[in-house]
Amino acid sequence: MARDLRTLPKAHLHLHFTGSMAATTLVELAREQGRRLPESLLDAVVDGDPVRLPANERGWFRFQRMYDAARAVVRSETVMRRIVDEAVAADAAEGSVRLEIQVDPTSYAPYVGGLTPALELVVDAARTSAQRHGIEVGVIVAASRMRHPLDARTLARLAALHADPDGVIGFGLSNDERRGVTTAFAPAFAIARRAGLASVPHGGELLGADHVAEVLASLHPDRIGHGVRVSEDAGVLRRVVDAGVALEVCPTSNVSLGVYPTLADVPLRRLLDAGARLALGADDPLIFGSRLLAQYELARDVHGLTDPELASLARSSIDASRASESSKQRMRSAVEHWLAQPDPGTPT
Ligand SMILES: [Zn+2]
Repeated sequence: MARDLRTLPKAHLHLHFTGSMAATTLVELAREQGRRLPESLLDAVVDGDPVRLPANERGWFRFQRMYDAARAVVRSETVMRRIVDEAVAADAAEGSVRLEIQVDPTSYAPYVGGLTPALELVVDAARTSAQRHGIEVGVIVAASRMRHPLDARTLARLAALHADPDGVIGFGLSNDERRGVTTAFAPAFAIARRAGLASVPHGGELLGADHVAEVLASLHPDRIGHGVRVSEDAGVLRRVVDAGVALEVCPTSNVSLGVYPTLADVPLRRLLDAGARLALGADDPLIFGSRLLAQYELARDVHGLTDPELASLARSSIDASRASESSKQRMRSAVEHWLAQPDPGTPT
């Protein structure tokens, strides 16, 4: 027996829109649309076979194929609103008090009348669902490394126009880290930063600490998506820690995509011992088969984090979020309240 991690208040800062979908929703939508889902995707989402891909370009290609097949069912405003609402509901049910969900509106724009309506409906859905489920929700616009840096600039301008503490709060960069030239995305991030948006690119997942150094220098991140491989270089890790850049660590994703062979190999302890600010995230629960709560559970079960350490991890996710100072204070005191409960495992 130990304190219930489901009731530990935490912020979820690394979740992709399509990847957040419930397996049952994907299957239902595919059936309604008469769309066949590829075996690899069905194995993962229906049979629950853990996805284990090699961390090379072929592995990423297979992951991308699964992702694209899932995205193919997302072709209407109704479906998009449903995905946001279910993501927020699932987060709220796991003790998330704030979700920052990332979306690349490019993929959905053709079905809803363009980039602007695609983003606006996600923002509107986020607001409605936040109210309905009683948690805070922010939207991150994520550009893709697979597209031209000018497309990223277009998205950054769109994100900037919708910058709002209650709307778009950040700008990201995702997809295969080995593709594209990181410095070429610097102008897009500059646009986003000028609008007051958080800079939250992926990095240090498929490439090592050298690339984290490049991300630091050219994209000036507030947080880095994953960032785990910065642990391979003490000097770069020190710079990340000193700059207060938070790392959105997604352990299950790392194992599914072959970044680490097992959950025990994810350098959670090493990063914490170095003083890094971490926020655990689920990345793409649809494909990796586990959501936010499972990441905290494995931090306890696999990495041996104590309840005070887990509370501190939750606190750093809140600190690294874009919540207002008053919200952060309220969320932090809820974490203290969680920790102040007697540990059910302690004999009285
Ligand atoms: Zn991600």
